Formats: sequence, structure tokens, C-alpha cells
Amino acid sequence: MSKTVHSRRVMLQVLGAAGGALVVLPAVGCSGGGSSGGGCNDLTGVDTAMRTTLHYNPAGPDATRHCSGCQLYTGGQNGCGTCQLFPGPVDPNGSCDSFVARA
Ligand code: SF4
Repeated sequence: MSKTVHSRRVMLQVLGAAGGALVVLPAVGCSGGGSSGGGCNDLTGVDTAMRTTLHYNPAGPDATRHCSGCQLYTGGQNGCGTCQLFPGPVDPNGSCDSFVARA
């Protein structure tokens, strides 16, 4: 058996093992944040239940409790970051009920 045929067979076995559960995550636009939210507010295809529950606000009124100063925030590219509590882009100037100040 050639290496190409073997590799193709292995790939098909992996895909078959996934049982069709292979999920392609949607690309989420994130072309800029700031106080206006910008691309951080594009939630196309994102489950928003948890951010609603936690009262996430992409323009948090209290600058001392912004996502950028939260332990659960990870900065990303294009001015948006992510939160460990829910999927999708997060504005660095956002905030929610679960804010945890960085040590
Ligand atoms: S937990 Fe922190 S990073 Fe996540 S939305 Fe709330 S304030 Fe922002």
C-alpha cells in the first residue's frame, strides 16, 4: 500500500470515527473593539445564553471593572478578546456580573 493511500485511509477512519459530529466553528468577525464594541459585537452563530445570564455589557459603565482587567479575559487579535465563561468575542471595555479583578 502506498503512503498516500494509507494516509487517505487513516483520514477517512478518523472522520468516520467522528460519526458525523465534526463541527466547523463559525469564524467570528472581530475587526475592532473599543468603547463602541465594533466587530466584537458580531455574534453570528454564537450561543449567547451565558453572556445574557451574566448581563454582559460590551460597553461596561465602570472602567474599574472592564474585561481587560478581569482574570477571565484573554486578549486577542483585532481589538477583541475572549472570556473563559462563554463563547464568542469580548470587548476589552465590556463587563459582566462575574468580573474578577486581576491580581
Ligand atoms: S467574566 Fe470577566 S472577561 Fe468575562 S465578560 Fe465578565 S468581566 Fe469580561
